[in-house]
Amino acid sequence: MLEKKVPFSLDRIKEIAKTYPSPFYIYDEVAIIENIGALKEAFSWADFKEYFAVKATPNPFLMKLLKTVEVGADCSSLPELLLAEKVGIVGEDIMFTSNNTPASEYRKATELGAIINFDDISHLAFYEEHVGKLPELVCFRYNPGRAKEGNLIIGRPEEAKYGFTREQLFAGYRYCKERGVKRFGIHTMVASNELDYTYFIETAEILFKLVREISKKLDLTFEFVNLGGGIGIPYRPEDEAVDLVKTGTGIKAKYEEIILGAGLPSLKIYMECGRMVTGPYGYLVTRALHIKETYKTYLGVDATMADLMRPALYGAYHHITVLGRKDQSPKVTYDVTGSLCENNDKFAIDRELPKVEIGDYLLIHDAGAHGHAMGFNYNGKLRSAELLLRTNGSIKQIRRAENLADLFATLDFADLDNF
Ligand SMILES: *Cc1c(COP(=O)(O)O)cnc(C)c1O
Repeated sequence: MLEKKVPFSLDRIKEIAKTYPSPFYIYDEVAIIENIGALKEAFSWADFKEYFAVKATPNPFLMKLLKTVEVGADCSSLPELLLAEKVGIVGEDIMFTSNNTPASEYRKATELGAIINFDDISHLAFYEEHVGKLPELVCFRYNPGRAKEGNLIIGRPEEAKYGFTREQLFAGYRYCKERGVKRFGIHTMVASNELDYTYFIETAEILFKLVREISKKLDLTFEFVNLGGGIGIPYRPEDEAVDLVKTGTGIKAKYEEIILGAGLPSLKIYMECGRMVTGPYGYLVTRALHIKETYKTYLGVDATMADLMRPALYGAYHHITVLGRKDQSPKVTYDVTGSLCENNDKFAIDRELPKVEIGDYLLIHDAGAHGHAMGFNYNGKLRSAELLLRTNGSIKQIRRAENLADLFATLDFADLDNF
């Protein structure tokens, strides 16, 4: 069996846990920055920008770190916009890709000067009614519907709530042009956690062809295409990461053929990846609490699905390493469980692990995106701290753990006496 690399020794984790008791999340700064470097390198032929999908890991310290390497913010709600503002990511460094959007959120995005990526043609009139004149730059989210079925595009776009139909794109850009909008972008995103790089080349091809067709038909100039997010990560040790170089090279060839070949002005290339930016570089650290032998062997740990719900929510695989075991060869088959009163509170089912002793530290891998962010408080569980392993080897707490006062903050116990 393949093993995943671990950037922490058992001794280091024990030392960290003296200050920050488990369970906690820990992110690897060096790896996050190196990975952004690889993404930018793959698109070094283009005027490229990554907008980090904030929902994946909405931590302002990570956003600020990403800002140092020119990564913007892809936001889809008011709190995500506010986080971007706090970090100093404003103006066109924010992509506002929302859906079913309240007017107040359009207003805040507009106030910040964000690029507004409209999800529906009816939102243009909605915006004019509730916010004001259309922004000088508009982007539309395209949903290719049944036009693009097959193995390359996953998830049946016609079943997805997002985006404009093809006809609506033409009508929408015409509507905006008639109202004096001068700057245009186009976006699509119809897959998630995709490991096949040819998918992203196909997405780019769809958008480049639309740019060519719409530019000609409506006599307007596009400024950028936004290829969305959806780059998958190798959760299983046998999975292979998306080859970013092949992705970039493939998209370049389509760009030269479809855009430059048609004599169109150059386009900026944007992406709004979340998962691949932080996912592989975040770990949930937890400790073995009980070993229970009944009809199966249960390894009870001090984290629960309230810390990381992906395995319970969609049966997602997260690799687990027992720290400090020199011999990681499988010895015992465990269900690795939390303490919620929900039988699906399991990080792994029938997982072969080296024999675990109570008190052992376990690393749950690839928890850096859609991990802490999806946490919740069921059974009164407190959300864990987030730590950052800095480039210089030090530890920075980037979010403290919740305490009981946080949990009860919305309750007025004094009022109980009057009740
Ligand atoms: C979730 C989301 C992303 C990021 O997706 P990843 O799979 O995390 O890369 C980008 N854009 C939009 C609109 C999203 O909803």
